[in-house]
Amino acid sequence: MVQFEICPNGECLSDDQRAAALAQPSFGRQFTDHMVTVRWTEERGWHDGRLEPYGPFTLPPATSVFHYGQAVFEGMKAYRHDSGSIALFRPMANAERFNRSARRLAMPELPVDTFVRAVELLVTQDRDWVPPGDGNSLYLRPFMIATQPGLGFTHPSSSYLFCVIASPAAPYFGPSGPRALTVWLCDDYVRAAPGGTGDAKAAGNYAGAFLATRQATAQGCDQVVWLDAAEHRWVEEMGGMNLFFVYGGSRPRIVTPKLTGALLPGITRDSLLTLAGELGMAAEEDRMSTSRWQSDCASGALTETFACGTAAVISPVGTVRSTTGDWQIGDGQPGPVTHRLRTALLDIQYGRGPDPHHWVHKV
Ligand code: PMP
Repeated sequence: MVQFEICPNGECLSDDQRAAALAQPSFGRQFTDHMVTVRWTEERGWHDGRLEPYGPFTLPPATSVFHYGQAVFEGMKAYRHDSGSIALFRPMANAERFNRSARRLAMPELPVDTFVRAVELLVTQDRDWVPPGDGNSLYLRPFMIATQPGLGFTHPSSSYLFCVIASPAAPYFGPSGPRALTVWLCDDYVRAAPGGTGDAKAAGNYAGAFLATRQATAQGCDQVVWLDAAEHRWVEEMGGMNLFFVYGGSRPRIVTPKLTGALLPGITRDSLLTLAGELGMAAEEDRMSTSRWQSDCASGALTETFACGTAAVISPVGTVRSTTGDWQIGDGQPGPVTHRLRTALLDIQYGRGPDPHHWVHKV
């Protein structure tokens, strides 16, 4: 494993300033006092691990990440339990997905133990930044960028920088809990195509999504639902979240689009597929067409839809909007199956329930 040098000097916020920041966390805009960096070169492999003050990088304008977008990232959280202890949720799964993303972008893989150690070091150093309270968390953003200067683009970069930064986060939907979203079925743009980078957390996937998100907003929607590239018929995912369709009844069945290579294998998605069975629900991975989604809502068989991901946990979807009109899912409000799954997952993440799969990783 890479050795880390601990250099925590630098200007930290005072206790009062940090308390003020944590009273109203500004997700993604405010960062903790430190960061962790590790460098990679062809000659030395991974080296020079450092825990250091959060601060800017100096890079030549010709650095390859600025031109060719060779960059991958992860998103995960640290949770403060009622006991005061701090835990990550399935960090090894993030490390493994990070390496799958890195392979797809022809970047070097980071040993899983180095990835997890880097995250643990930052959380330990900045543990006072993990906000207490239900729904609050410290969002962690590990990422890797190509740092070789030069505009030749026939080869991947010969050097890389891995870094982890952290930002305190309040509950995504505020204290009143989740509200049902209106989503836009996007016909003009696709997020990913077979053989592309849709199943990697490649930075460019997100740059390519902004225009569709802007279109969704202009249509009065909260989020974009991505359809497959070839037929614009199969539902893939929603914004930065995976989707689940609920067939209610005495034994509910939840269905999520199967992993075709064009959608991101979410860790929340995977966790819910496991939890559903334990809650007496059937769980399936299958294709879902927009026409089946609509007709099963109309017949009343499909009772709920929700999206899931690390940032918002579970977001209910109430209304679907497309160029041909709107339809409502169930009564348009968050449903009981969505609520049960959300509570079960949060209970594990916040250390309130049993953890039979050892998903909770104490720091
Ligand atoms: N899809 C996309 C495109 C995402 O960016 C994310 C967030 N990482 C997800 C799904 C959900 O993944 P996870 O549950 O691992 O956060």
